[in-house]
Amino acid sequence: MMKKQSPETLVAQAAGHVEPVSRGLAPGIYPATTYERDPDLSLPGGAVYARDENPAFDAAEDMLRELEGGAEAMLFASGMASGAALFKALRQGDRVILPQVMYFALQVWVKGFAERFGLELELVENDAASYAAALARKPARLVWVETPSNPLWTITDIAAVADACRSCGAKLAVDNTVPTPVFTRPLALGADFVMHSATKGLNGHSDVLAGALVTRDKSDPIWQGAREERRLGGAVLGPFEAWLLARGMRTLFVRVERAAANAAALADWLDARPDVARVLYPGLASHPDHDVAARQMHGGFGSMLSILTGGGEERARAVKGRLKLFRRATSLGGVESLVEHRKSVEGPTSQAPADLLRLSVGIEALQDLKDDLKRALEGND
Ligand SMILES: *Cc1c(COP(=O)(O)O)cnc(C)c1O
Repeated sequence: MMKKQSPETLVAQAAGHVEPVSRGLAPGIYPATTYERDPDLSLPGGAVYARDENPAFDAAEDMLRELEGGAEAMLFASGMASGAALFKALRQGDRVILPQVMYFALQVWVKGFAERFGLELELVENDAASYAAALARKPARLVWVETPSNPLWTITDIAAVADACRSCGAKLAVDNTVPTPVFTRPLALGADFVMHSATKGLNGHSDVLAGALVTRDKSDPIWQGAREERRLGGAVLGPFEAWLLARGMRTLFVRVERAAANAAALADWLDARPDVARVLYPGLASHPDHDVAARQMHGGFGSMLSILTGGGEERARAVKGRLKLFRRATSLGGVESLVEHRKSVEGPTSQAPADLLRLSVGIEALQDLKDDLKRALEGND
């Protein structure tokens, strides 16, 4: 028997997918929406209709299932659609625990859905003790964790939350978009489901909107419900997007390892500068959650960091305005570096410090990124 492949090898080779007619060494693109039956009505290709199953999904789903160490993976039309599918699979009256700080749009959607559909919702601080306390007060059906969380890059101890969930029969879902499976593997830490906005690091080229779920157990009723939700709710990914995503994922390791190395070097360098008030990066020993991050993240701390510029909103906006290589845009996980003033993006209810700039670090030359930040911090155009 062949030794099980390393994840790096598996994704570089598209999990063994080739174009079946020509043996071309890239997965095929499958635009068909319907599939022919044999005279005896059997389905030689296995698929009936493209909303039910589609060979276009296989390469990316196989890669992601292996990367996360799960039993099955499912692509969706967006990260939001993938997260929503898990909540739509719950039963009326189920209790759900969400963190205070998580992807803002998903929290807004869950709150509205919970009210209309009848879910009992509790929001807790992003630390494991707060989750355990909420579960001890009353068991829940589904618990949601996002770590590191935006924009302070707070770390939640997944193994500790998983323990608390197991003791009361709750299922744990982790939004693993920010670290990617390169740095964090929630299922190995005891989670039941992993969610991704594949729009971010998995695809990595800021040119596909996609989402994904991975499960530990295919027979889990929540998973079955999410599968039904994709098939009948219809938030399926298009075949070209699925193909682009698989293409992007083949370079996942080199992209995110390089971006994380850039981010770690920038965090150290910015931390030593007197014209930066504070650097928030889980890889820095000064980060309040560094110990948990060092335990649960392997091989790096990701490509996201924030700086407090000092001098209030005015200085933060001025620094941002002078940056040239760091492009002023939202989103994260792409090969290009981005900067965002979170407070003005999030609006009046934002908890983000007024002088906080969020950096999504790309794969550019480190020196170019330093030069850009240095010029902007020193007030030169
Ligand atoms: C972007 C993002 C989402 C939402 O995904 P979309 O693909 O934009 O729908 C969810 N969670 C996190 C952490 C994200 O960064």
